[in-house]
This record gives sequence, C-alpha cells and structure tokens, in this order.
Amino acid sequence: MPVERTEPQGAEELYRHYEVYETIGSGGFAKVKLGRHLLTGEKVAIKIMNKKELGEDLPRVQVEIEAMKNLSHQHVCRLYQVIETTSKIFIVLEYCPGGELFDYIIAKDRLSEEETRVFFRQIVSALAYVHSQGYAHRDLKPENLLIDADHNLKLIDFGLCAKPKGGLGYELMTCCGSPAYAAPELIQGKTYIGSEYASLRKKST
Ligand code: ADP
Repeated sequence: MPVERTEPQGAEELYRHYEVYETIGSGGFAKVKLGRHLLTGEKVAIKIMNKKELGEDLPRVQVEIEAMKNLSHQHVCRLYQVIETTSKIFIVLEYCPGGELFDYIIAKDRLSEEETRVFFRQIVSALAYVHSQGYAHRDLKPENLLIDADHNLKLIDFGLCAKPKGGLGYELMTCCGSPAYAAPELIQGKTYIGSEYASLRKKST
C-alpha cells in the first residue's frame, strides 16, 4: 500500500478509510488504537498524537515518519498512511497483535535457545536493512520490538533514529535512547558510531 500524506481540517479523512476501535497501547507521545481498513478489511494500528501536547517533541515524530516512509522490510513495522489534521497526527501502521517482546520475555521468564535464535536472526536482519538504508535506530530494546500475527518480530519507534549526512561511519554526539540499554561510550559522553549503538540486554529492575 503506498504511503499517502493528506492534511484535512478534521479526522473525517481517517474515518473515510478506517473503522476505529479500542485503545491497544499508549506511549510517552501517543495513544494507539486498533483499526480496520474499510477497503481491504485489513487490521491496522492507528497511532494518534495531539500536536499541541507534542510541543518540542514534534520534530521527533517528523523524524519517525520520514524514516518509516523510506523503510520497507519484513521485520520493520510498515507505515501505511499518515493523516495530519490541524490538531492531530494519525500514523497508520501494520498491526502487531502479539504485543511487545519485553512483555513476552517477562511472561515466559526466559526464552529457549531455539526461540531466541529465531528472534535474534530477525532482529539482526532488520538492523542490517535499516543500516543499509543509512539509518541508525538508536533506541533498540525489547519494548520496541512487537510480535505480529505470525509470531514474527517488527521493529518500531524510529523517533530517535539518525541518518548521518556523511554516512553511517560518521561519528554521532547526541546522547539519546534509554539509559538501561545504552552503550558504554554513550554513558561516558563520547562520540559513537550509530550503527554500533545497539544493545539488547534485559533491562535490570
Ligand atoms: P510512543 O512513541 O508514544 O512511545 P509507541 O509507538 O511505543 O508509542 O506505541 C505505544 C504502544 O502501543 C506500544 O508499546 C504497543 O503496545 C502499542 N503499539 C504500537 N504500535 C503498534 C502496532 N503496530 N501494533 C500493535 N500495537 C502497537
């Protein structure tokens, strides 16, 4: 499905294409609702953000949209459509009913080596693709990996990603991401190579 960008005054454009159901998640910036594409019947996740409430974080959303528009991979959550109104941004995404990998690991306490191997390969293939497109995700963690209907992983949350102009070998400075998963050079305030900044240790409680 091609990514469209439209800017109506209200949410009528959303309701013209989708039925909107219950809230299925929420984050620091957004409420996420289950939806259904009227034409195809496909279930979707609709990430809803209020522009006023976003304030200084609006650029982060723009970064996320720009990156997701350019990324298409079986283990990266697909962006279907962006609908922007005067007060809200609706991001229509591929629906992942299995929830976060983080909750899955907690519920099972630990995963078997067999299952871990499958998930790990999927994560590495997603990252290799993201890096091949010139992006560093910079917030890789089990909370940002969702499980789809076929029990496959999908990488989400590109709000902190970077696409260094000089290529991925270029050193980055911005200290960002989640401290519990940060690479040592970030904590030390050193410059770092974006594609190397990936840590998947289980968060200590
Ligand atoms: P924020 O950017 O505000 O942190 P997230 O993108 O992390 O928001 O989404 C918040 C929560 O909504 C996720 O943790 C997840 O539970 C749910 N969610 C997000 N995207 C999807 C999706 N594509 N399919 C199913 N649930 C999703």
